[in-house]
Amino acid sequence: MYIVLLGPPGAGKGTQAQRIASATKLVHISTGDMFRENVKNQTELGKLANEYMAKGELVPDEVTIKMLLERISRDDAKAGAMFDGFPRNVVQARALDEALKSNGTRVDHALLISVADAELIARLGGRWICRNCGKLYHERNDPPKTPGVCDACGGELYQREDDRPEVVRARLEKQKPPAALIDHYRAAGVLKEIDGERSLDDVTASLLEAIR
Ligand code: AMP
Repeated sequence: MYIVLLGPPGAGKGTQAQRIASATKLVHISTGDMFRENVKNQTELGKLANEYMAKGELVPDEVTIKMLLERISRDDAKAGAMFDGFPRNVVQARALDEALKSNGTRVDHALLISVADAELIARLGGRWICRNCGKLYHERNDPPKTPGVCDACGGELYQREDDRPEVVRARLEKQKPPAALIDHYRAAGVLKEIDGERSLDDVTASLLEAIR
């Protein structure tokens, strides 16, 4: 089973994708994680991707599609996958369709997590990460006991470059799933919309229900 998770940045895609992947035993493929890993390891791909990521822009399709196709050609993605952050546009969606078609498979479910803009800006602007252990915090929903310091390990908290408020608005505008992408999956008869302004558990339950 191949599942595509769609939604604007801050809709909780990453968290839900992990939950769905573990509930379904599907491999979780996040292009954002793959790019961040490359940035961390200072690969050529990482250097290139970072030029776009730091500005809240999408990495060019050619680069992203090549990386994704290589990833889904591996054995662990043969039986299915949970895609998170891919596709972001119709060009990417078509590339995925083609690749799956050549294996006799297809995208079975496209799940759209929807959240209003105002809520997204509040959520995204407040995210902090521990530089040492990676633990996530949120200014409003899950603040650390001492601002700027990790409760778990005492490490320094930082904001992902693309979570800074000025980048957030630009990123939202540029990275909302385009209407054409949503239409692409609606036309294929696989689109389901899930209300993302509820508790994490409720959203997970709706997503699992949608793919049953
Ligand atoms: P994410 O973790 O999905 O929010 O992705 C973080 C950043 O990685 C995005 O802001 C983009 O710059 C880049 N990125 C991730 N996935 C894609 C994709 N499918 N196409 C283009 N850029 C992507």
